[in-house]
Amino acid sequence: METTTDRNDIKSFTFEELMEQVCALGQPAYRAGQIFQWLHEKQAASFAEMTNLPADLRRILEERFELVTVKQEQVLISAIDGTRKYLFALPDGNVIESVMMRYQHGNSVCISSQVGCRMGCRFCASTLDGLERNLRPSEMLEQIYRIGRDTGERISNVVVMGSGEPLDNYEHLLRFIRLLTDGRGLHISQRNITVSTCGLVPQMRRLAEEKLQITLALSLHAADDETRRQLMPVARRYSLREVLGACDDYFQKTGRRMTFEYSLVGGVNDTPSHAEALARLLKDRHGHVNLIPVNPIKERDYVRSERKTVEAFKNHLEKYGINVTIRREMGRDIQGACGQLRRSCLSSRT
Ligand code: SAH
Repeated sequence: METTTDRNDIKSFTFEELMEQVCALGQPAYRAGQIFQWLHEKQAASFAEMTNLPADLRRILEERFELVTVKQEQVLISAIDGTRKYLFALPDGNVIESVMMRYQHGNSVCISSQVGCRMGCRFCASTLDGLERNLRPSEMLEQIYRIGRDTGERISNVVVMGSGEPLDNYEHLLRFIRLLTDGRGLHISQRNITVSTCGLVPQMRRLAEEKLQITLALSLHAADDETRRQLMPVARRYSLREVLGACDDYFQKTGRRMTFEYSLVGGVNDTPSHAEALARLLKDRHGHVNLIPVNPIKERDYVRSERKTVEAFKNHLEKYGINVTIRREMGRDIQGACGQLRRSCLSSRT
């Protein structure tokens, strides 16, 4: 279902493509710079706002191109930590969610990459209704642009860890990264972007070849194939050996350390022997482990590990010299877990 960019989705064009379009309209090349700046730096919501363009050019743009924007349907603000959870409506009426988290080192936005998801991870709310469609690059950018506008604050970090599997929407993801890091736009540093994958091996290998400086996070969740297959259907397609081989390749080719995410599910993957297996698997891999106590969803009966089990798991890994953190839980009071807000919105619509 790899979709190419729509021919008229102007916000998804790279600078070079925009230049071609502008020249084809018989306009001077510098207009491309002006339009790009309106779209990606000033984040104009309409062509009418582009006041340094001649009126007839604005009219032509209006006729030929779609200016994709997302509409803020709802925002929930956590009373605990100031985390903001947004529900956005896309031009076709689908809804997606994005989150802004405030950290000492700056603001981080977590975006969705697809409407729904087809990966089927057992504990995840985003996948319960399957995949609706891929998001376009413009729709990924818009989540960040709207949040920046709404808060008036600078966004320094972007994590592609919301609903959807980003590497299942590869072309659009890459285009999104190029636009987000473009010096003429928001100019976010590649090092401040993290892409999280459930482990699509061919795409991970392809990503390593792009030689980007982004962080790749692998959702590992188990250190043996059998447990991983129970939690994640994708593990039936790719064994741990294959997926970790792709991680090693990513590190070798880019010099970027991997992040390994491990959601702790009570009684399923959180015992001392699971910790031992994980430590052995990762001890020579120079990665960082992020432990996430599972966020139970009502459609499944998985339970969260107890606090002391989580601590013991962490200590076990540290004994092997593994770099490990327990993910600080943000926005617990506002349905912070992937896909929960969107689902409650959908069920209230019917
Ligand atoms: N598809 C990508 C990114 C989206 S999910 C991926 O699989 O990595 C981001 C992270 O949250 C993943 O590690 C995912 O497994 C985890 N996750 C999803 N639902 C969760 C839940 N209810 N509790 C804890 N972690 C969850």
